[in-house]
Amino acid sequence: MKCPLCGKTDDKVIESRQNQSGTTIRRRRECIGCGYRFTSYEHIEEVPIMVIKRSGRRENFDLKKIEYGVMRALEKRPVTHAAIEDLLHGIEDEAAMMSRSTHEIRSETIGDLVLEKLFSLDKVAYVRFASVYRQFEDVKEFIRVIDDLGPDAEPIHDESRPDGELF
Ligand SMILES: [Zn+2]
Repeated sequence: MKCPLCGKTDDKVIESRQNQSGTTIRRRRECIGCGYRFTSYEHIEEVPIMVIKRSGRRENFDLKKIEYGVMRALEKRPVTHAAIEDLLHGIEDEAAMMSRSTHEIRSETIGDLVLEKLFSLDKVAYVRFASVYRQFEDVKEFIRVIDDLGPDAEPIHDESRPDGELF
């Protein structure tokens, strides 16, 4: 694979790891030219997971979209790249397990998964993601998710509080 740093195509695999459901293999690679380490992923292509949107529309499950939202929530937070990778692939892993029989998953289920993972990783990122998520999803559904996560999330219940004061 082409090294993202120097562009050489010689590399060696230093670690291979399969996810729990066996749908993804993650390989740590090291460039022979410059020693830079990077990660590649192998996914099964034949049966894509379809995401059912609230509108009923379906689209392919796209980890990049989730990554975009998660990265925005984690901006300037003291969280390692490895922890973010673990979080994203944990979400992919669970989504694959949940959709194993139907190959479908609801967008709300994915939102809940992201919230749960962020909650245990970084509370500030959790609140950021939750406040964006709330703009696009039904408020009652959102509050139910917060309730499920426990009393630590209490301040978010206060609907009169302007978003800016949450941080
Ligand atoms: Zn290189």
